[in-house]
Amino acid sequence: MAHSKNDVCKLKTAHDAPLIDEISLQEDLDRHFYYTLGRDVVGESRLYLYHALALTIRDRLVALCRSTRQMQKANPTRQVAYLSLEFLMGRALGNAVLNLDLEDNVRKALADYCSTFESVAEAEHDAGLGNGGLGRLAACFLDSCATLGLPVTGYGIRYEYGMFNQSIEQGNQVEHPDNWLREGHPWEITAPDHSRRVKFFGHVEIYQDKQGRKHHQWVGTQDVLAVAYDVPVPGYRNDVVNTLRLWKSEATDEFNLSEFNAGSYTEAVARKNLAEQITMVLYPNDSSENGKELRLRQQYFLSSASLQDILASWVSRYDKDFTNFAKFNVFQLNDTHPSIAVAELMRLLIDDYDLEWDSAWAITTSTMAYTNHTLLPEALEKWSVTLFARLLPRLLEIIYEINARFLMEVACRWPGDTDKQCAMSLIEEGSHPQIRMAYLAIVGSFSVNGVAALHTELLTQGLFNDFYQLWPEKFNNKTNGVTPRRWLSHCNPLLADLISEKIGTDWVADFGQIEKIRRYYDNPTFGQQWREVKEHNKQELIDLVRVQCGVEFDASMMFDVQVKRIHEYKRQLLNILHVIYLYERIRKGDTANLTPRCVLLGGKAAPGYFMAKLIIKLFNNVADAINSDPLAKPYLRVAFLPNYNVTAMETICPATDLSEQISTAGKEASGTGNMKFMMNGAITIGTLDGANIEIRDAVGADNFFLFGAKSEELTQIRANYNPNKIIAENQALNEVMSLLESGHFNLFEPGLFQPIIDSIRDSNDQWLVAYDFDSYIKAQQQVELAYQDKEYWTRLSILNTAASGGFSSDRTIKQYSQDIWQLDQ
Ligand SMILES: *Cc1c(COP(=O)(O)O)cnc(C)c1O
Repeated sequence: MAHSKNDVCKLKTAHDAPLIDEISLQEDLDRHFYYTLGRDVVGESRLYLYHALALTIRDRLVALCRSTRQMQKANPTRQVAYLSLEFLMGRALGNAVLNLDLEDNVRKALADYCSTFESVAEAEHDAGLGNGGLGRLAACFLDSCATLGLPVTGYGIRYEYGMFNQSIEQGNQVEHPDNWLREGHPWEITAPDHSRRVKFFGHVEIYQDKQGRKHHQWVGTQDVLAVAYDVPVPGYRNDVVNTLRLWKSEATDEFNLSEFNAGSYTEAVARKNLAEQITMVLYPNDSSENGKELRLRQQYFLSSASLQDILASWVSRYDKDFTNFAKFNVFQLNDTHPSIAVAELMRLLIDDYDLEWDSAWAITTSTMAYTNHTLLPEALEKWSVTLFARLLPRLLEIIYEINARFLMEVACRWPGDTDKQCAMSLIEEGSHPQIRMAYLAIVGSFSVNGVAALHTELLTQGLFNDFYQLWPEKFNNKTNGVTPRRWLSHCNPLLADLISEKIGTDWVADFGQIEKIRRYYDNPTFGQQWREVKEHNKQELIDLVRVQCGVEFDASMMFDVQVKRIHEYKRQLLNILHVIYLYERIRKGDTANLTPRCVLLGGKAAPGYFMAKLIIKLFNNVADAINSDPLAKPYLRVAFLPNYNVTAMETICPATDLSEQISTAGKEASGTGNMKFMMNGAITIGTLDGANIEIRDAVGADNFFLFGAKSEELTQIRANYNPNKIIAENQALNEVMSLLESGHFNLFEPGLFQPIIDSIRDSNDQWLVAYDFDSYIKAQQQVELAYQDKEYWTRLSILNTAASGGFSSDRTIKQYSQDIWQLDQ
């Protein structure tokens, strides 16, 4: 015990960063393992060893976090709060070890425990606090902000249950709760001194002060406590550590007095559950809203707690002088989910800090910035006025006032045009009036951005055109990106090493330099090494697919991969039709030019999304039929990987040959999976949609397999769309539909896939599956030919990685920083 006492003294006196040399790391690991966790044997699972290692590294992160904060305090600049209902972080250990450059020392320290770094890293649960692209974008952004040394804090929710775990039973998706905190989350540090109170329900009272000024008091509320949990976000080898602050809801200690006095002590205590429900679970809907009251509570809870946090820290330094507040603060809203922050900032400034409406509005509209993530109408959030009136009465008043003032501006710009006022109103009138959250975000923000060039174009020309006419200067594009640390260095170390051998290591933090490997695209030795890396990565994926799916993939075959949320607009169905088409060719013996391939599909369907779940079932039934047919084995193997998540993607993208990005044009705002695949040398087959367009421009049309209708053609196509005619006139599609309709894939479940068949044959099919089938098949035939020439394919692969420099989230964040946040002024 003398040992640990000594350590306590040391911790009290030493404010320096813990040393990162081999000895001190080993000592700290031992101390955490033997004392913090009280263990003495490693055990099968490596769980405690993982915790001890995480705590060891966290000590170093905490020290760097402190010095980062001190630097920022000494030299105050504009601070950014990135508000997001989702942060899809995945695992933290490998990323922290990479960014702090601790790998060699960690490996040595673990050798004493007879453990490999890989086996220990496996013990970590994914932090799955997000659905898909939007949440993963927030995570990539945090990495880039820290790497660029920008003062950005992420604000989110500490969901007790993250994105559900998916298993496949009889081909169907089954959801299981993701109890990711059960074994503890060693990276977080709770900061109870930063707790905030968030109000719900109650009513508004108006009173006049002695000066005759009217004040609004939101009273009779049921308050919930927001407790802060801070997660460190390390930059890449720059000693910067930023913070992701996640809020957990807890009950206040005040119990309902009447209940209490009536002797219902236990009932009153049990009511604590209601408060704790708010952060219990992530809503598993991607690109669609579901209108549940609890979701609105989550949105307000996050927005209010975060804004209070920032205002309190301002007031602690500058008292109630808000003159310079906007100069030193900016809020980035990740989609409309936290857009209630616009009204909440007004409320806090006016009700709590006594500002006049006009000064509060000036501050709000020069600090709020909004990122739009989708054009899909089902994703545009609207909240019922009745719900607002009950849950957030003071916020509703403020929204009404914002709207009244805004509609006057509309009336000035378009005098007498009442249709325009209705169309642009924050309130959608009708028997059930609704608040249009996207409009609230636009009106309250100084910047509105889309996430790829086409997406921003469609926003300004379509969905938000009225607002664009009113305020063209607000609108801008910021094409998404992904962090090359996680999505190349960490997940594909062999390729990263091969690249670094040729062009040095600066590309990791300066990803534009990846372009330099283009010089080697024609070098046969380099090409051979490039293929060997891919081969090795394919082996890793083969192992995963064997364990998870019971299907044997073969590294000599092309790996054709589509992983992403299951959604009709992403057109997994088109992929399935192509698989059936290949199977038809095999059955007919038409295999002369057939390139053997392994098709992998993965992704979660929202639990209430019937068609998406049926698409999973169809794919699994098709996979079963094909995998059990010995005729198909040499040519085609098909697997659905259950529980697609960040960690799975880290094995998938390095092993992929062909990246499927086949959404209906105009529907995928950007896509970021496409960028991860490209960085890792996969070739894209894709439509002119989202960032695919920019990917194709960067790599060159010859190095991208393009197909499908263009977004500007869609109106025309839809006007006289006749899928039945297309099917009748296209022999391949006709045969595919016949096989599907014959019940070949659902022999014991008659009629099961009728809704899918009907959707393809429906002249109102929004996703135009039949329309794009022919050009998709032709593009796939080009793919087959290209893959047969190994050297040619390798050149394409190298060129794709080399051209991916623009798709680093570092580039994206530099643009946010310069154009929106204006951090370097
Ligand atoms: C990158 C990523 C996504 C986004 O993929 P898209 O193909 O852009 O939809 C979704 N989920 C996970 C786990 C990811 O890593």
